[in-house]
Amino acid sequence: MDTLWLSHSLFLKSENMAEDLNPFEIAQKQLDNAAEVMKLDKEAHAILREPMRILEVNIPVRMRDGSTKVFKGFRVLYNNARGPGKGGIRFHPKETLDTVKALSAWMTWKVSLANVPFGGAKGGIICDTKQLNDYELEQLSRGYVRAIADAVGPDKDIPAPDVYTTPQIMAWMMDEYSNIVRHDSFGMITGKPLEVWGSEGRGDSTAMGGMFVMREAAKMLGIDLKKATIAVQGFGNAGMFAYTLSKKLFGSKVVAISDSQGAIYDPNGLDLAKLEAAKKETGSVQGYEGGQKLTNEQLLELDVDVLIPAAIENQVRGDNADRIKAKLLLELANGPVTPDADGILQEKGVMDLPDFLVNSGGVIGSYFEWVQNIGGYYWSADEVYQKLDKIITKSFNDIMALKKKYESGGTKIAPRTAAYIIAVDRVAKAMKARGWY
Ligand code: NAD
Repeated sequence: MDTLWLSHSLFLKSENMAEDLNPFEIAQKQLDNAAEVMKLDKEAHAILREPMRILEVNIPVRMRDGSTKVFKGFRVLYNNARGPGKGGIRFHPKETLDTVKALSAWMTWKVSLANVPFGGAKGGIICDTKQLNDYELEQLSRGYVRAIADAVGPDKDIPAPDVYTTPQIMAWMMDEYSNIVRHDSFGMITGKPLEVWGSEGRGDSTAMGGMFVMREAAKMLGIDLKKATIAVQGFGNAGMFAYTLSKKLFGSKVVAISDSQGAIYDPNGLDLAKLEAAKKETGSVQGYEGGQKLTNEQLLELDVDVLIPAAIENQVRGDNADRIKAKLLLELANGPVTPDADGILQEKGVMDLPDFLVNSGGVIGSYFEWVQNIGGYYWSADEVYQKLDKIITKSFNDIMALKKKYESGGTKIAPRTAAYIIAVDRVAKAMKARGWY
């Protein structure tokens, strides 16, 4: 049987490719390798290798002290064959156009896999939010929207929050855009506060989506979630909700959790009140009363049923993948498993489910916010979760069905490979139907 561990043997021809290439070159390489496996049409491939539109803008901002500073921003529309662009805006001192281009490509595959009617996009401004007061942050946010107003809108390209951008920033941007177009345009951006028609359930939709994926995968692997042990890396939005929801929804035992300072482990299960107290009093989950202190590295290697990396990228790598003992690895963070670890995990029989499936609950929640804004009809959190469950469970089933189809043809593929093939194929077919090639 051939083995195509796309992101292992095919994604990365060189082990150090991640160091050799910039993020956009990596995104292109990933597409190239998916194209090879699925025998993608050459013309479709050529279109999909580049973003359709790149905007670079310079935003003058009058600072509190009366001086004027100029900030550089970007908005990239990667592909809109299946609908308007969708993707967050990052405010980061080290933002680069190549990072934004790569993220816009990855958004294209994420929304396509979820099968929601969007294309991929992303935006960013080079700035350090810690150096800006609220007034300056508001001026910068409004200035950015004025600069990109022609390119965004509820039926063109719909931004959302990302690194260092908040619901408040989304509200300012929506207000500025509404002033420009001379009518309220709530659907031009998502991740807004509820007061200006954000969506119920959006706050924990990323982790909630991950829980639905965990439920389906556990069924397939024969893991009884009521008795399962779970380790979660990260105690931020994604990790904290993964912890509370896996207990609440399934009664699972979360035995370890971590933050940037390290991990805490208790084989009997961790207590939320004690974790919150530790965080409040000592600034870290490691201040937890009782339990054993571990490093983040040790947390990853615990003998648990499910491992949920929910913090940062490049955690499970070629040098530690062999020591992972979990049966199921849920990539709730973006990029927690490096390409050179992929094949090792597959050989070990760990079911590693890719980030652009596991954390797609966030963008699916954003899709619901947009639908509600467009329709002017609002749903309860329960309705949001039910609809999210339906979409993300279908994505999981689509991946497993394609994996099985390849396997019955004698080719073994990883879930990540199957996810890529589904996502790229849908975009290629939409371009074909529209007559782009
Ligand atoms: P966050 O900033 O709220 O939390 C990050 C957590 O990671 C914190 O607990 C922090 O202490 C911990 N951390 C930082 N450095 C660490 C290290 N070196 N080792 C271990 N832990 C470390 O971020 P978040 O929103 O929870 O996002 C976490 C991941 O999930 C990111 O990869 C993000 O891209 C991804 N994600 C989040 C969402 C969302 O809706 N929040 C959506 C999609 C993807």
